[in-house]
Amino acid sequence: MKDLKLAGLKAGRCAIEVKGVTIGGEEIILMGGPCAVESSLQMSQIAETVKKAGGKILRGGVFKPRTSPYSFQGLGLEGLSYLVQAAKEQNLLCVTEVIDAPSLDLVADKVDILQIGARNMQNFELLKLAGKIKKPIILKRGLSATIEEWLLAAEYILAAGNPQVILCERGIRTFEPSTRNTLDLSAVGVAKALSHLPVIIDPSHAAGRRDLISSLSKAAIAAGADGLIIETHPNPAEAVSDGPQSLTPEQFLQLAEELGVVARSVKRVFNCVGKGDTLETLRTRIDRVDQSIIELLAERMQIVRKIGDQKRLDRVKDPAREKEVMLRLVQLATEQQLSPELVKRIYPLIFEFGVQSQVKKKLTQDKEEHAHASIQ
Ligand code: PEP
Ligand code: MN
Repeated sequence: MKDLKLAGLKAGRCAIEVKGVTIGGEEIILMGGPCAVESSLQMSQIAETVKKAGGKILRGGVFKPRTSPYSFQGLGLEGLSYLVQAAKEQNLLCVTEVIDAPSLDLVADKVDILQIGARNMQNFELLKLAGKIKKPIILKRGLSATIEEWLLAAEYILAAGNPQVILCERGIRTFEPSTRNTLDLSAVGVAKALSHLPVIIDPSHAAGRRDLISSLSKAAIAAGADGLIIETHPNPAEAVSDGPQSLTPEQFLQLAEELGVVARSVKRVFNCVGKGDTLETLRTRIDRVDQSIIELLAERMQIVRKIGDQKRLDRVKDPAREKEVMLRLVQLATEQQLSPELVKRIYPLIFEFGVQSQVKKKLTQDKEEHAHASIQ
């Protein structure tokens, strides 16, 4: 793509570091907070949630570019102080949207990251001004912008002197009315193939409805996103803007607890701080482990049955192999500080059920073959 002189792919990917938080590194960066800052209490409550979830960055709009002139336009400077204060209390970074030159001037020194929203993606004068700032800029993809237009918008910021741009896909306008916008997940891969800049996903503005946020967030990580920016509110039903797409604090925490495993599956890291070791959370963890144990046992049984197909009926039981497996597992258990006694008691049963199921399958097969032969 021509003209991506600075935003175009470089030898290495670019990681943006802000006060010890790296966006575009191994770690998935979670950002959360309300669509709009409403009060000091709202911000301190939600900052606590974001922190507990393992989030690193608190979001909150104080200058809101609303589709209708009659919608809430944001608390301005008063809101900014609530955002900054709440982030400070929880040792989080903060991000807010700028919509024009005056708002940029007002917030540039006070927040850690600036956001340029979808509606301003092609506000070229604003992009040039953002290029003069020495702070990272989250650049949202415009409602109907192509990936090329989005990257050229990033190029404006880079060309004006600011290399710290984080691309944010937030859904594009399509013919589909079931969701507010359509999350373009392939944009993550495409943007990363064309540019070295980090890419994050905003599932909230894409979906416009909270029931889809969790699955879209996981899909975004699987698709290679470097982070997520998600709307959450202490009481979404009362939110002055974007309540229907805002997660409750409980939902936000739940989602964060589920992100680690997805991150690991694509060789990334996400650590949820979690609700701590309460009885409830410990039991949830046990339930998850139990589920894995049963699923793995079922998988083991299926393999055992396949092995059975390759054995003769009188060779189904193999004491030498059982002994060898047992020795290895006792050793493994000791290394894992698990009682070898437990393994010695459980495994004979597992072997026994395996043998039984192999024998049963073989006998059924024999019977069927017999019946088949006598028909012929
Ligand atoms: C926002 O993040 O609150 C916002 C207005 O987002 P977008 O620009 O993506 O619509
Ligand atoms: Mn919003």
